[in-house]
Amino acid sequence: MSPRREPHPVTGELFASPVPPGRGWPGDPATARTPVARDADDVTRLAGSARSLEVLNARISVCRACPRLVEWRERVATSGRRASFADQPYWGRPGPGFGDPEAEVLIVGLAPAANGTNRTGRLFTGDRSGDWLYAALHRAGYANQPESWAAGDGLRLDGIRIAAAVRCAPPDNKPSTDEKATCAPWLDRDLQLAEPRLRSMLALGSIGWDAALGAARRLGWTVPRPKPRFGHGVEATLTTAAGADVRLLGSYHVSQQNTFTGRLTEAMLDEVIARL
Ligand code: SF4
Repeated sequence: MSPRREPHPVTGELFASPVPPGRGWPGDPATARTPVARDADDVTRLAGSARSLEVLNARISVCRACPRLVEWRERVATSGRRASFADQPYWGRPGPGFGDPEAEVLIVGLAPAANGTNRTGRLFTGDRSGDWLYAALHRAGYANQPESWAAGDGLRLDGIRIAAAVRCAPPDNKPSTDEKATCAPWLDRDLQLAEPRLRSMLALGSIGWDAALGAARRLGWTVPRPKPRFGHGVEATLTTAAGADVRLLGSYHVSQQNTFTGRLTEAMLDEVIARL
């Protein structure tokens, strides 16, 4: 029996869930021939040999290296959907990087949300965290619109790009230590490809902060010692292997846990983004 197919909320085209690569989902960077990473060694090899962000994004978007996360993301995409999205196709794959490929600024988030990126296929898209982040990027002039509700909704970023420490939605938003380590080479390569233009980075939450510092260290950048501690508004200067300074800023994550409680306000986020 062929899998059930449902209409994409923007294009109306029918998709199975999880979405097979190369079938026309807006922004899908992969094709049916994109090589699939099946374990940590594959991630290291395929990330290291990706010669462009396009190739890197394609390979990220079909990765299957973490069995627990693959099982979870696909289960949410089929039988575990939020009721309000029950009639929509779910991406059910890792979230590739999103934004301006020539960006001088990189945001490093934590991991996709089960009914956000895991549904829409675009980082910080289709959930409250994304509403907060893109509204702030729009106020700062980095985004052409404040909303981000579906891939193909017209959102464009200028001068900024978004990546994440872990690319698959984890149960309870908590990736394991092994899963963070397995996914790290994707971010390392993301940073390496961005390095010639990179001026500053914004790490969202302590996991984003640690991931950014870890990637910088593995790429041979100079990182202050002792390790700079995460906090909202903290700043550290990293120096690339080529000798260029990159500013790393920290912000509380735009999760509902922080934005609903007032721990992170719009003014606090705007202030940090302005310093990028
Ligand atoms: S978390 Fe990262 S390494 Fe693990 S399956 Fe997803 S994309 Fe691959």
